[in-house]
Amino acid sequence: MTVAISIDIGGTTTKIGLVTPSGKIIAKNQFDTWKGNSKNAFFNNLFEAIGKLIIDIDFEDIKGIGIDAPSCVPQEGIIKGASNLPLKGEVPIVDILAIKYKKEVYLCNDANAAALGEGKFGNAKGMSNFVVLTLGTGLGAGIIVNNEVLTGQSGLSGEMGHITAIRNGRQCGCGRKGCLETYTSATGIKRNFLAQLAESNLPSSLENLPLASLTTKKIGKAAKEGDENAKKAFEYGGKILGEHLADFVHLFEPEAIVLAGGVAQVGELLFTPTINALFDNLLPNYINNIQVLPSALGENEAALLGASTLVFQ
Ligand SMILES: [Zn+2]
Repeated sequence: MTVAISIDIGGTTTKIGLVTPSGKIIAKNQFDTWKGNSKNAFFNNLFEAIGKLIIDIDFEDIKGIGIDAPSCVPQEGIIKGASNLPLKGEVPIVDILAIKYKKEVYLCNDANAAALGEGKFGNAKGMSNFVVLTLGTGLGAGIIVNNEVLTGQSGLSGEMGHITAIRNGRQCGCGRKGCLETYTSATGIKRNFLAQLAESNLPSSLENLPLASLTTKKIGKAAKEGDENAKKAFEYGGKILGEHLADFVHLFEPEAIVLAGGVAQVGELLFTPTINALFDNLLPNYINNIQVLPSALGENEAALLGASTLVFQ
């Protein structure tokens, strides 16, 4: 059976899967991206994890290797300036793996991989124009235009998280202020909740929780149980997201916007304000032609599946 080795390099965890051409993940492995806290340790951990996965399969059956990562330049096969990975400077990851395994190696941006996975196997299957937003620690966008991934000149397109949502707004990790992801991402929702708590006199089930243990998941749970402050954190994040999605729709006219990633799993709490703000800001001609959909794939599977499509394309 032919398989691809898919590698999804994330800021917290690196996941590896053996994926068939029909999108079945037949084996998985993962390791802490920061284990050992150096480039050498990262590659040793990666080789070990791959070794364990391929021990029982015929080496000839491996068609190639697909990798997705943040901060990469696919055309050059390198990861470059990655602030959230232990891979500093320029790392020629494609060459390193090609030399080690003597297979074809492909690289793409993590949000683009999620879009490829969603388009081939998920809720955007069969669509030619769509965008997948990954709402995780940050906010990324994989944009498909006329069946092709929009890469930009060096693979950097789709940094939707750093669109200015509010001029001179919240400080962003990128050094600028008011970026969309400071309002609509896991960290953004947390900041919305804390701002709401400071402004409001409503009680909250989370107000005695130590700050370090506050997570978007807990805010989502509290919101579902009726916590008004928690609900408003998602309402505000969704409103800002929807307003900017309207700008996006006016530019690209996609068939669908897929909201993926951990924050999107909260469901209606985020989808309803997002869709309302989107439709409130759209020109009438667009309103009947756009859907906002959840991801149909497992939280961590879209990117793994998408990276495999690079191998089988
Ligand atoms: Zn930013």
